Amino acid sequence: MNIILLGPPGAGKGTQAQRLVERHGMRQLSTGDMLRAAVRAKTPVGLQAKAVMERGELVSDAIVSAIIGYELDAMGPDAGVIFDGYPRTAAQAEALDALLAERGRKLDHVVELEVDEDALVERITGRFTCASCGKGYHDKFDRPRMPDNCDKCGNSGFKRRPDDNEETVRTRMAEYRGKTEPILPIYNARGIVSRVDGMGDIDQVTAAIEKIVAP
Ligand code: ADP
Ligand code: ADP
Ligand code: ZN
Repeated sequence: MNIILLGPPGAGKGTQAQRLVERHGMRQLSTGDMLRAAVRAKTPVGLQAKAVMERGELVSDAIVSAIIGYELDAMGPDAGVIFDGYPRTAAQAEALDALLAERGRKLDHVVELEVDEDALVERITGRFTCASCGKGYHDKFDRPRMPDNCDKCGNSGFKRRPDDNEETVRTRMAEYRGKTEPILPIYNARGIVSRVDGMGDIDQVTAAIEKIVAP
């Protein structure tokens, strides 16, 4: 199974992707996570992407599509994939079609997380993740059971993203509206889009996604 999680920054894509990984053993391909790893490692891609990401703009289509192709080849042909944060432009949607076709894969579902824009700034400014395993949390909506230790791996040490500030979030939302939302009609025409109310609590959203991927 190959599915795309689509939605604006803070919609809950990463949170739900992590749950799909745990429940169904699928693989999460998050271009945001991969780009942040490249920035940390100071690779040529990372050096190019850093400033763009800090401004909240989109990294070039060629870079992200190349990363996705590489990651698809690194996993077995049978692994189910969740695309989290990719594609984000019409050019990326086209590139993904080619990447999948070349590997005998097809898209099963595009899950669109619908959220009120007003809620997103609060979600994003309260977001943090475990520095060891990457599990996502929120100051108000999803706190770890113990304040200093990750529920999943037990380690202490959390981190916040430099682009998770109100000003950058506005740019990221504008990028979403201007470049990402317009790709939905492509998938609508194929009849593979399912809309999910992303305003429910995390468990409710998971239940709605389960109905789509494992009916
Ligand atoms: P995205 O990957 O779409 O940018 P995340 O999954 O990282 O979004 O979620 C953004 C923040 O909002 C995180 O701190 C997460 O814990 C929190 N969050 C995710 N889903 C919900 C929800 N349904 N209700 C409240 N908070 C949520
Ligand atoms: P969020 O889902 O919270 O908006 P991501 O972690 O997906 O954030 O992305 C963080 C940043 O990484 C984006 O603002 C953008 O600069 C870059 N990025 C991630 N995925 C892509 C992509 N598919 N195309 C272009 N840029 C991307
Ligand atoms: Zn952890």
